[in-house]
Amino acid sequence: MIELLNFKIILVGAVLLIFVLFENIFPKEIIKFKIRIKRTIKNIFFWLLNIGLTPILILPITVAATSLNLHNFFIIENIFVQFLFHLIIYDVFLYFWHRANHEIPFLWRFHHVHHLDETLDVSSGIRFHFGEVILSTIVRCIIIIMFNISLLNLILIETIVLASSAFHHSNIKLPQKFEKILSFIIVTPSIHWVHHHKRQKETDANYCAIFSFWDLIFGTKSNFKRYKGMPIGVEGDSEQSLIKLISRPLK
Ligand SMILES: [Zn+2]
Repeated sequence: MIELLNFKIILVGAVLLIFVLFENIFPKEIIKFKIRIKRTIKNIFFWLLNIGLTPILILPITVAATSLNLHNFFIIENIFVQFLFHLIIYDVFLYFWHRANHEIPFLWRFHHVHHLDETLDVSSGIRFHFGEVILSTIVRCIIIIMFNISLLNLILIETIVLASSAFHHSNIKLPQKFEKILSFIIVTPSIHWVHHHKRQKETDANYCAIFSFWDLIFGTKSNFKRYKGMPIGVEGDSEQSLIKLISRPLK
């Protein structure tokens, strides 16, 4: 298991680094250096806090849930087909979990912190309040137990989720046609940046994590087109200091 986790850390680190490199060489938005440094420090702080929670809370809960094996339903012999099945199930779960984070006021208190970032890049994809991370770790046990998702499959899926999050929050300027084609299958920066639009109507849409078609299927796809200089953040609110962000859910 340690080898598997090391593999995940190295892979995620490499993917993040590649996207950071690309968004710096081919940026869509030009963000002032001072602003970038300030918010990157904040976002990395939240990430480090969540990494610190992994061995003491996230991992024990996840290992316990994946070891339960309470039933033999949904067993697929072929491991690749089973992985694909788990990936799709987990992605649908993430869609509804993300939607719940916007629609249930108690959950929005935590997810709000992620949306207060007033510009986006790879570091936004790792900026989550630890309250949200703990809650999602507990809630996802339902889906792990229900579908008997193995620890191996979960770690692989989580690696894809993190890579996808880094990609769709990134400030990479993609060729328009290429992004258009890609957006039919996976969540691209243009899709997800609209979700971070300061106007609430757009914030409450485009909830997908990996595959982009769930929004279309479940009726939450925004037709709004991303444009350069688009306002990012939360309607009627603004970015806060690190201390205020940490205590924000209690407000
Ligand atoms: Zn959101």
